[in-house]
Amino acid sequence: MQGLMQDVPLTLRMVLERVAELYPTKHVATKTADGVRRRSYAEVVERVTRLASALRDMGVGPGDRVATFAWNSDRHLELYLAVPCMGAVVHTLNPRLHHEQISWIVNHAEDKVVFADTSLAPAWQAVSGTDTVNTVVAMDDLDGAGGIDGAVDYEELLAGAAPEFSWPTLRENDAAAMCYTSGTTGNPKGVVYSHRSSVLHAMASLFADFIGLSERDVCLPIVPQFHANAWGTPYAALLTGANLAMPGRFMADPASIAALTAEERVTVSAAVPTVWFGVLQAIRAGTVDPASLSTLERILCGGSAVPEPLMRGFDELGIRIVHAWGMTETSPLGSVANVKSTVAEDQVLRTRLTQGIPAPSLRVRLETSEGEIAPWDGETMGELQINGPWIADAYYDPDAPDGRGGQDRFVTDAAGTRWLKTGDVAVIDAEGYIKLVDRTKDLVKSGGEWISTVDLENLLIAHDKVVEAAVIAVPHPQWDERPLACVVKADDAVTKEELLGYVGEHVAKWQVPDDVVFVEEIPKTSVGKFDKKVLRQRFGDYQLAT
Ligand code: AMP
Repeated sequence: MQGLMQDVPLTLRMVLERVAELYPTKHVATKTADGVRRRSYAEVVERVTRLASALRDMGVGPGDRVATFAWNSDRHLELYLAVPCMGAVVHTLNPRLHHEQISWIVNHAEDKVVFADTSLAPAWQAVSGTDTVNTVVAMDDLDGAGGIDGAVDYEELLAGAAPEFSWPTLRENDAAAMCYTSGTTGNPKGVVYSHRSSVLHAMASLFADFIGLSERDVCLPIVPQFHANAWGTPYAALLTGANLAMPGRFMADPASIAALTAEERVTVSAAVPTVWFGVLQAIRAGTVDPASLSTLERILCGGSAVPEPLMRGFDELGIRIVHAWGMTETSPLGSVANVKSTVAEDQVLRTRLTQGIPAPSLRVRLETSEGEIAPWDGETMGELQINGPWIADAYYDPDAPDGRGGQDRFVTDAAGTRWLKTGDVAVIDAEGYIKLVDRTKDLVKSGGEWISTVDLENLLIAHDKVVEAAVIAVPHPQWDERPLACVVKADDAVTKEELLGYVGEHVAKWQVPDDVVFVEEIPKTSVGKFDKKVLRQRFGDYQLAT
């Protein structure tokens, strides 16, 4: 028997219409060199309509890729709405990548138009050989102090465009947005979000037991809009009518974050742990006044594991870190560590430090290295696999006969369920909490036994004489691989012996790193995670004492 309910396609037009009808007086604020620029959502919708007209006049048609090369801002938000709602695909480029990688991505995605911030002009002008791009639009974030050769000015484009636009009827599975993975191995892979996946992800972000974003929130996404759509926060905030605060080009500077938080009365923010460590250090160094964060209630933190000292540090400030796990391929929110009422009181902190339970409508499982599905016993390790309506089904690959690539990263089980193989190794406990042990490629295989580098890093980071620490595998003649700790000192007096002795008090003897190297800083990827690839290149042939 057929259900008799309306079959309404889930498209981002819903977000645009809702914000226009219900929240016209709410606003987005963007940090600029001399203050904050605020635009009401009514104004945003008006500008989005002009932008859609301008895109049509430029010859952008259904399915065409329109790239952004920009920090988080009101204009970037306008692109998030205009491009998909007029039928094209908004492709967020990561300006922190190497210029050769960017040009590879632009060509692979076949971007037609690029919208770039003028503060990123040098980075954009270094990108060459982008054969498919026929128009570059410059978004001035330098108060006229810079431009991009041959580019059209964004504000002039809008001023000259028709103020009305006949929005097309879209199908919910049409592509809406595109983002390439950070590509720590090989070329990056294109993830193509649909309207449906974007709307469902935004709706889920409003669930009290997930992210719980509400109309009363003021949301500050510090995670870049080019990193998995700022974790979906812009669409979720618009859908629920929350004000947005955008850091513009002042993305990761603790003083600017604190000032914007105070000025806009931010209640919820989102960024990777390194950003929050920076804020905590600035508070401790006295350069940021904790009172400026007094409206901040919670922080969505993920992208890499949240170490305990970070969570405790913010707990002491009365700001709750909500730990989340996800990937570009998972839109990105996959799981969030909200504490179920069934969790024992003495397990609350431990639970908040896990990667959490999957979002409603997502399912997870673990596959062991023997190909078995692991029990949820908190002990058996396996590769995390995930299924659900906002999980990638394939990668974009224009050269594959069906345009879908990377099939080895997906598996369909006997019941026909499609699973994304995340490359993360985890255990899951009886309550369903996922605990990430490592990336498959970061685990240390010592004498046939696996050692989790994440556990060792968390321990080292918790030591008060350590600022940062990353652990990598280095070759060993007898054990195949052994862990090497790369540590940034907080105190010059700290010694290897002291750190290794401390680690030895918490883990089995065979898991203690063989050695410690002190480094000036842990290299970071373009999205602020530890870049172990660089450490492996630097210390890959490190000679351990045998
Ligand atoms: P990306 O697609 O660049 O966001 O990277 C996704 C990867 O980041 C995941 O596969 C994990 O390895 C890592 N990651 C994301 N969130 C977390 C987290 N909360 N804890 C540990 N690792 C994480």
